[in-house]
Amino acid sequence: MEKFDVIIVGAGAAGMFCAAQAGQLGRRVLLLDNGKKAGRKILMSGGGRCNFTNMHTEPAAYLSHNPHFCKSALARYNQWDFIDLVNRHGIAYHEKTLGQLFCDDSAQQIVDLLLKECDAGQVTLRLRSEVLSVDRDDNGYTLQLNGTSVQAEKLVIASGGLSMPGLGATPFGYKVAEQFGLKVFPTRAALVPFTLHKPLLEQLNTLSGVALPTTITAQDGTLFKEAMLFTHRGLSGPAVLQISSYWQPGEFVTIDLSPATSLDDFIHVQREAHPNLSLKNSLAKILPKRLVEVLQELKQIPDVTLKQLNSKQQGELVSTLHQWRVQPNGTEGYRTAEVTLGGVDTTQLSSKTMEARDVPGLFFIGEVVDVTGWLGGYNFQWAWSSAWACAQAL
Ligand code: FAD
Repeated sequence: MEKFDVIIVGAGAAGMFCAAQAGQLGRRVLLLDNGKKAGRKILMSGGGRCNFTNMHTEPAAYLSHNPHFCKSALARYNQWDFIDLVNRHGIAYHEKTLGQLFCDDSAQQIVDLLLKECDAGQVTLRLRSEVLSVDRDDNGYTLQLNGTSVQAEKLVIASGGLSMPGLGATPFGYKVAEQFGLKVFPTRAALVPFTLHKPLLEQLNTLSGVALPTTITAQDGTLFKEAMLFTHRGLSGPAVLQISSYWQPGEFVTIDLSPATSLDDFIHVQREAHPNLSLKNSLAKILPKRLVEVLQELKQIPDVTLKQLNSKQQGELVSTLHQWRVQPNGTEGYRTAEVTLGGVDTTQLSSKTMEARDVPGLFFIGEVVDVTGWLGGYNFQWAWSSAWACAQAL
């Protein structure tokens, strides 16, 4: 049986970074993954350019049953530490919006960075390795793989969440947690598009592809000011992905379709200047034309000129456009979700080391843990920070 100091399951963002750090600290590390490539999600991320961190990373950008848990790791290895590493590898990047940093060229550069760091730590990387079972005795952890078994004093679970099963996602991490008596919070797809009930979807279907800036608010009051996109299944775009993490089935979201312009003020000014202009043409100056047409077909925008618009009609219009209440049918689920909410209960882990308090030598890092970031580089930063904290303790 082959023996290592540390075995890490999952060669994604967290697993590769942890392996590299632990290797460079002198540990003999075996890094296992079920796929034929390391870092598959990284390659897909950020539209192929990997939004690898966010300059505004702070604990408030993370959801967890225990919101304090992420603080220590995020402070000890922060966004500027990872940006330094990216700089040391000579990777060019830019801020797209809202502090989100993307590679100028390709997400492959981040995977290459991680592979080089793993090489520097003499990490043994084994791909296409399915872990069949995990056992623990006085020598540490023994893992049965297809055909062989491997052993190490310490085991790090970095197998991610359930989103995108096509990219190798499995419930492995949650099962190991349960096997060793740790609680796992129910999981749910997050950063995911909404689907709509059929009647509404049919009314809106010609809007597929239309995008506009919005402010979107969940029933608990959480709000995001970002773009929304109509799709042939429902609603997507950054605003919708963000709010999906705060939405529960059956709830409404409220969407301001004109967040930058007060419609009352706009109509007042327009009516003075162009009283005979149709309301539709006037609104098309600040809203996508197709959206205005559909809303007129649905009788949400009356077919009148500005001077004909009465105050009751204006009140209804303003409330429709500034406070459009939508009850999603559901989400597109794990198939397209960027992340998974829930996971291994953090109250049973050390926030300093990520080790299970009652199971010495067993660590959980990255998305498998009940810490989920907003859209915008926050999830990779959690992967880097939790991996780094763990590696120092290996
Ligand atoms: P993962 O990266 O999911 O890695 C887990 C690894 O474990 C995988 O390689 C998997 O194959 C392997 N594995 C699973 N089960 C087993 C098993 N039983 N045996 C062996 N190996 C196993 N976040 C951002 O911050 N910025 C972005 O731009 C961004 N874009 C994204 C785009 C897409 C399409 C998706 C799906 C996600 C995106 N995310 C982004 C989220 C981000 O990718 C994840 O939060 C992050 O990858 C989590 O890292 P991880 O190492 O914990 O898990």
